[in-house]
Amino acid sequence: MVKVTILGCGDAFGAGGRMHSSYLVETPERTFRVDCGPTILQALKRLRIDPGRIDFILISHLHGDHFGGLPFLFMEYRYAMPRSRPLAVYGPSGTTERTQRLFEALYEKTALEPLNFPLEYEELTPGTEKTVGDVCIRPFAVPHVSELSCMGYRLEADGRAIVYSGDSAWSDEFITQARGADLFLCECSTFEPNVPIHISYREISARADDIDCRRLVLTHLGAEPLRRQREISLECARDGMTLELVEPRRVSRRVRSVVPRSGGRRRPKGASRGRARRRR
Ligand SMILES: [Zn+2]
Ligand SMILES: [Zn+2]
Repeated sequence: MVKVTILGCGDAFGAGGRMHSSYLVETPERTFRVDCGPTILQALKRLRIDPGRIDFILISHLHGDHFGGLPFLFMEYRYAMPRSRPLAVYGPSGTTERTQRLFEALYEKTALEPLNFPLEYEELTPGTEKTVGDVCIRPFAVPHVSELSCMGYRLEADGRAIVYSGDSAWSDEFITQARGADLFLCECSTFEPNVPIHISYREISARADDIDCRRLVLTHLGAEPLRRQREISLECARDGMTLELVEPRRVSRRVRSVVPRSGGRRRPKGASRGRARRRR
């Protein structure tokens, strides 16, 4: 089984008091985080999740609400909960230098001293997959801002697949990436399409029937979609929410109604063409 915990589903501005972007993924062999916003320690400690359990961290892009928590995590492992085993950080080009500069800006003395655990960085290239234990990481380029390398991820482990948009404008590449996935975590920063570097609810809603995944969950929710949540018919993330991704044949009838079967089965007459679920 693969379990996803939403540590933070807020935008850069902490809309609605939500935590910055971060998602905990647990597979049979690895525990890792996707993105690491500055509120990471608060999110973990509120949920009573041991920060020491993390094997590695994946970063989607180098905006503060997605990687700004790394120095706080290093401080935790340096002083509060000393760590000895290695920590790996995988991210786009520039991750090593930007993270080190940020660490030095926030905690200059500690950042310049040796850490008590091996910290390994690896910069990933869109289109080149990487395997860590039972996790296959497939980064793909997303159109967010031109000055940074911005990536989404398709992550596969234990027969399950998760697609994460990172921050991005809408791209039909998401329809391709999400095909057959168990979960698509898609950013939804605005309700109306008025910020060209982000996805709006109008855009994702218009394509929801074309997205062939078992569960579509909107995240990175800005003030506007939160204010207009009554008008949203797709599932929205909440901080602390857990999503258990299991094989359809192993789920109970009750759960199956929430996690619909995907695949090439013929749909009943009149049924929706796509499989991304709308909220009841
Ligand atoms: Zn963001
Ligand atoms: Zn961003």
